[in-house]
Amino acid sequence: KTAGTSSRTSSSPANSQLRITHPDRVIDEASGATKIQLVRYYESVSEWLLPHLDQRPLALVRAPDGVGGQLFFQKHVEGDDLIVVRNMAQVLEFTQLNTVEFHTWNSRADKLDKPDRIVFDLDPGEGVSFAQVREGAQLVRALLEELQLKAWLKTSGGKGLHVVVPLTRRADHDACKAFSHAVVDHLAATLPKRFSAKSGPRNRVGKIFVDYLRNGEGQTTAAAFSVRARPGMGVSMPVDWDQLPDLKGGDHWTLRDARDHLSFVKRDPWADYWTCRQTLTAGLRMLQAED
Ligand code: ATP
Ligand code: MN
Ligand code: MN
Repeated sequence: KTAGTSSRTSSSPANSQLRITHPDRVIDEASGATKIQLVRYYESVSEWLLPHLDQRPLALVRAPDGVGGQLFFQKHVEGDDLIVVRNMAQVLEFTQLNTVEFHTWNSRADKLDKPDRIVFDLDPGEGVSFAQVREGAQLVRALLEELQLKAWLKTSGGKGLHVVVPLTRRADHDACKAFSHAVVDHLAATLPKRFSAKSGPRNRVGKIFVDYLRNGEGQTTAAAFSVRARPGMGVSMPVDWDQLPDLKGGDHWTLRDARDHLSFVKRDPWADYWTCRQTLTAGLRMLQAED
């Protein structure tokens, strides 16, 4: 597949010719990124991105006037239908329609009521350094390990980090949300200077709010490899835990350098994510023994 210099982009599998309108329009003043650069980025990471979108209802963040303009968060097409993409051509059609961000549910269409993952969204409050966010992610990981759950890390592309726990599809959304809430309550109770279990900016000054609300039914999180509609256009990037100390921010990688970074990645840091089989059973027992 080639990304030529024309405003046309060919996309598999249908070999369809998608016309990109306004290809050279600057969509981010901060980086000077253009619409066609965004389209080319998505096309170039298709093999990395598609497994993260596969069968999942999506929420799209569209930026018709660029990332500095009004953003539209869209969860449905034509009435009440959830948005699910099956191939890159559909992804690129959405980018043609000014979609910048792709967010996903924690469950897939064939079993919508049973999530196959839990997300811990680390949101730094005012005055929190990124060093604290890194430490916070490590602490979340350590607690999850105690609860016999393996977790994977990605940058959010924004300010924070996302810790993702793959699950066998057994518990429903409510159970997953209750579990993640209990984990966050435990963190905030044992390390109250570092963590807050309450959302809202005033509750997290100097602390990290670990947002368990991402695990409710119908809730979404920015997908791995999604670009963010924010100045500088950060990219949500999966990273190895060993790389955590080197991260400079949630937007460590951006539209400009994310693809290059991937060509230097020797082993997919999330390679084992897809085959990990685990449930909440042991962790639930341990958390319940707490109170
Ligand atoms: P950061 O690291 O900067 O926190 P993030 O992607 O984690 O980046 P959050 O603000 O923590 O951003 O998360 C917002 C979440 O809320 C997203 O995961 C998104 O799916 C969801 N969401 C729900 N409604 C909206 C909306 N109207 N606009 C944007 N996001 C929304
Ligand atoms: Mn966040
Ligand atoms: Mn959040």
